[in-house]
Formats: sequence, structure tokens, C-alpha cells
Amino acid sequence: MKTLPHASPTDSSRRIDIRLEQLRIIYSAVPSSLVAILFNAAALSAVLWGQVGPTVLAAWLCAVAAVSLFRFAAYRRFVATPAEGQGRGHWRILSGVGVLLSGALWGSTSLLLFPEHSMPHQVFLAFLLAGISAGAVSTLSAVFPLAAAYLAMCLLPMLVRFLFTQQMLGEVMAVMTALFALMLLMSSRRLHQTIRESLQIRHDFQQAEKTIRHQALYDDLTGLPNRRLLLERLGQEISRSLRHDHIGAVLFLDLDHFKTINDSLGHRVGDKLLQAVAARLQSRARAEDTVARLGGDEFIVLLSEIADDAAIAASDTQQVADQLIELFRAPFSIGGHELHLSASIGMALFPMGQANPEELLQQADVAMYSAKENGRENSRLFLPVMQAAVDQRLRIERGLRQAIGNDQLELYYQPQVTTDGRITGAEALVRWNHPEQGLVSPGEFIGVAEETGLIYQLGDWILRRACSELAQLGEVKAVHISVNISPKQFRESGFVERVKLILAETGAPPHLLTLEITESLFIDNIGQTVERMRLLKAMGISFAIDDFGTGHSSLAYLKRLPLDTLKIDQSFVRDISTDPNDATIVETIIVMARHLGLAVIAEGVETEEAFEFLQTRGCRQFQGYLFGRPGPFHTLCRQLESPPAARAAI
Ligand code: C2E
Ligand code: MG
Ligand code: MG
Repeated sequence: MKTLPHASPTDSSRRIDIRLEQLRIIYSAVPSSLVAILFNAAALSAVLWGQVGPTVLAAWLCAVAAVSLFRFAAYRRFVATPAEGQGRGHWRILSGVGVLLSGALWGSTSLLLFPEHSMPHQVFLAFLLAGISAGAVSTLSAVFPLAAAYLAMCLLPMLVRFLFTQQMLGEVMAVMTALFALMLLMSSRRLHQTIRESLQIRHDFQQAEKTIRHQALYDDLTGLPNRRLLLERLGQEISRSLRHDHIGAVLFLDLDHFKTINDSLGHRVGDKLLQAVAARLQSRARAEDTVARLGGDEFIVLLSEIADDAAIAASDTQQVADQLIELFRAPFSIGGHELHLSASIGMALFPMGQANPEELLQQADVAMYSAKENGRENSRLFLPVMQAAVDQRLRIERGLRQAIGNDQLELYYQPQVTTDGRITGAEALVRWNHPEQGLVSPGEFIGVAEETGLIYQLGDWILRRACSELAQLGEVKAVHISVNISPKQFRESGFVERVKLILAETGAPPHLLTLEITESLFIDNIGQTVERMRLLKAMGISFAIDDFGTGHSSLAYLKRLPLDTLKIDQSFVRDISTDPNDATIVETIIVMARHLGLAVIAEGVETEEAFEFLQTRGCRQFQGYLFGRPGPFHTLCRQLESPPAARAAI
């Protein structure tokens, strides 16, 4: 697998190209020069017939014919040579020798064929040589030294010859010849510069075009083909496989936990690591395969024509995937760090009815997700059943985009109560009023919103709605409203400012707002998380860890974070009165929270037994169906109006 080098033309490559163009100009002028030379040589022989010895004249004519033949043969072979071979040194030498021989033959006329006794013949010879020299300026100036040598060889002997005629007129002719030669040299020099400049412009233009094309089709960091070029090649490969009845495969490779390395060791190390990964992948690929980078930590290996049979193709592709996973077993050594990395791989075979390359990539992507879900460092072949999940995800994504604009979203509130049943808070839970499917629960669309980035818009809407309803409740009710914040939303730059703006615009009291975050937020970039939490806390906002106990929080984190509340995950609360393990976990969380000075809310309290148990272990706040299901805002308002005992009826 070859990739183009980064397009930064060196000076030497620039010189080589331009020199080749100059040589091509010289060769291209050969046929017309030869016609002129042969015609002039014939004319000269005819005019000088009788003035000089016939043997010398015949010998000279034969020499002219021989040199012309040699130059013509060299020209024919040069034009028949492929472009890359024309730059070789011997073409330059052949053309130089031909030109100099020709110059020498014309120069020799002033010595061998000079009509000493006839002034008109001398003038004719001078006139002819002047014409030949002027012609040489136009055909040879692309290489100035060659033109200069030709002119010197042509005209110098004549100048000397006129000088030695020892006649006044001869000396005048010598001076005229010298002036003429000088003028031709100057013209040739100017023409040479013009040719060079225009060649340079053409060369720079071509080079710029090449660079632009390279940048458009190759990834800057790794030099691998980018998404655009990959799609182009995929398109070609699909048609080729259809034509030849072959099967190919696409391997979608995503690095596991690359983000953690990037965040903790910095982007420079991250970049170097990506380059090293690219090099490793390339080292394993066959020449006919393509390794491409889609962006971020996603790479594609395109295997063309693996087999004719789908089962064999699948097993061969699996083997390649295993080899690629194996490739990551050895650590990467980057900037003094020894980095261990693994990859998850999704595979898709083609042509299997995919409508276009994008669909094929999407299938491999889906398979890759399935591999990740299966515990990373894993590979999965795309199966049509996975397509159903993809379609559903696509439907949700499309629908959700419209839902935000079309007022199909609603916030439900679930009360949070104390031991005596008094409502101290409520959790805002988003609902999607789907025009066909009815009420869709967040479990079905929050994940998609996070994957597609729709969560920013959605989260904004939720926070704004919750704050404006919190403002409607007013301080009198003193009810805390908790809003779930997804990790992606929390990490978005400008999140703190957005919250501030929403609070200011809605007039919600910040000390009655709680943000629910999850433990996954502490895995990456803990420093930034703590800083943001502090800024928000300084505004009066509280923090609760949602679904506590299911993530990977360590005690060290809990001490560092400006937290207020732990929400015990409902999976522990559900079987609390029957499962001793769950009971122990819940007890431990309650004790730990007390030591850390944090409040505890038990989620998912459905039964009196669980409620009893939690109370005896010291839990003072509860949320669950036992006290009320999530309901619309007006229901929460009514619940707040009525005394706890009467609430069951609502
Ligand atoms: P969560 O934040 O842990 O919310 C509690 C979930 O448990 C809610 O499900 C609630 O209806 C359910 N629940 C409450 N009490 C009980 C009970 O006694 N028994 C059982 N079985 N379930 C109970 P819901 O509304 O379907 O929300 C699911 C998850 O979706 C939420 O879990 C939260 O992670 C996410 N989510 C909901 N609304 C939002 C939101 O506005 N923004 C974000 N980012 N995520 C949200
Ligand atoms: Mg929650
Ligand atoms: Mg929860």
C-alpha cells in the first residue's frame, strides 16, 4: 500500500522538472531545424560550386547529412521514450553533441569553404551564416549555454576569417559580425529567461494543483487516504467485485480508550500515536488493500477480492481482523511513554446489496459498535439483524431532530420525598410525544442523541424548560428541581456560561437547581470536571451523582468533587429486602455518604418493605413509584398543593 509523500516540492525536484522541459523544447525543434539546415546546405553548395574544391564541398555536404541523420535518429528515439525515461542524462548528451557538431560544421564553412576571391560569394556565405545563427537563437535558447556555444562555433571562425582578409572591408565585416553575434547572444539570453519563467510558472501551477489534490484526498496527520478517497475507492471496488463475482471486505477499526490517552498525555502524544497506528496498519496490509483514516481514532482497512464464496470471505476477513488485533498487543513507544492500546473491529463484506459505499461503511460501523459492546478488543461481522437496530437508530435520529423544533418534547417530574412523605424535590425526566408512537421514554433516545450530538440541543431545551418551570414554582415552594446532564453536554465548551445564561433568562433560583451527573464523567479529564463543578457551585447550584454504585467512582474522586448528594441506583434498591448483597451495598453507600457529609436519595423505591429497610439504615430521602410516578408539570404542582396523605389519589 503506497501513500503519496506530503506534497512539498523540494528545490531539486523543481529543477529536475524544468530542465526536462527545456530538453523537450530543444528536441521538439529538431525536425524544423534539420529542414532549414539541409535546405541551406544545398543552397550553399549550389552557390559555391566552382568557387571551392568539389571534394571538400562534397565531403562537407556528406558530413552535414550524417550529422542531420544522427540528430534525427536521436530525436525519433527521444519522442518514443516514455516521459519518465526522458529525464535520463544521455538524452542531454546526445542532443548537445548533435547541436555542437552542427555548429562546428557551419563554423567550418568559413575555414574550408570560404570563397577567398569573390566578394559577392563571401557576402552570401555571411548572409547564410547569419540566418542559420538567428534560427538557432529561436530553437536553442531554452538551454542558453548550448545556444551560446552554437553561435560562437558558427560565427567566430567567420569573424577571424574576415579579420585576416587584410582588407578594409574585411575588417568592417569582422566588426559587423562581432556586433551581430553580440546582439544574437543578448536576444538568446532574454529569450532563455522568458522560457524559464514561463516554465517555472507552469511548474508551480502544476505543483500547487498536486498539493491541493493531495490535501483534499489524504489525511494530513498520517498521510493515509481520507474519507473522500476511501469512498471513491470503495465505489470502484464494489463495481469491480460485482463485475468479477468476487467478495471484498471492509474492516472498521476504532481504538479503545484513545480519548483517555489524548486527554491525559496531550494532543501531541495522541497525534504521534495515531501516526504509529497508521504505520503499523500499513505494515500489515497487502499492496492491493487500502488503509484509510476516517477521522479521530477511526481507521478503515479495505480488503479487495478476498474470495468468491461468502463463507470463505467471512472466515478470511475474521483472520485478518484477528491479526490486526494481535498487531496492537505490542505497546507503542511514544515520547518516552509506553502506551498499551487495543482496537475494536467491525467487518462488512461486499457486494451484499449495499446501495452505495456509505451504506457499506455504516454496516461496518454498526458491527464495530457491536464489538465494543461485547467488551472491546474484539471483532464482529455485520449481520443483517444488526441493520434493524441501525434503521431504528436512524429513525429516532431523524424524528428527534424534528421533535425539538416541533414542540413534541415534554418534561415530566418525579417527586423526591422525605421520611414523612413531604416533597422536597423533583427530578425532571424528558418525554417525547411521538406523533405515531405515543410517549417515547428517554431510554430509547438519549443514547442516540448523545451519539449524534443532538444532545447539545436537547439538553439545552431540557435545562431551559426545567429552569422556567422552577421559576414558576417560585421560592415559596422551596422545591429542588434535579436535571439530568449527559457527560457530553457537561464537557461541551461554554457549558458553564450556558447554564448561567439560562438561569438569568428564566429567573430560576440557582440554589434550588440540582444537576445530576454520572460517574462516567470522572473517568476522563477529572481536572476539567472539578473546575466546572466549582464554577457552577459558586453560582449556588447543587450536584448529585446519579445511579451511584454502577460506575467506577473511587473514594479519592468523591473526596475531591464538590458534591451534595448520592443517588443510590435503583438496581440495588429493587431487591433490597431479599438480596443480602444489595442490602450490604446500600448500607455501605449510606454510611460512606454520611462520613463524606453527603445527602443520599434512594431511587426506585417501589415497596413499603424497601422503604422500611432504607429508613432503618438511615436513608432520609426517597424517589420511586411508591411516592409517585413521573408526571407532567401541572401534576407536580397539584402534588405540592396537597398534604402527603391525600397524594395517593393524584
Ligand atoms: P435516571 O436519571 O436514573 O431516572 C430515573 C429513572 O427511573 C426514570 O426513568 C424513572 O421513571 C425511573 N423510575 C423512577 N422511579 C422508579 C421506580 O420506582 N421503579 C422503576 N422501575 N423505575 C423508576 P426514565 O424517565 O425512563 O429515564 C431513564 C433515564 O433516562 C434516566 O435515568 C436518565 O438517565 C435518562 N434521562 C431522563 N431524562 C433525561 C434528561 O432530561 N436528560 C438526560 N441527559 N437524561 C435523561
Ligand atoms: Mg437521574
Ligand atoms: Mg438514576
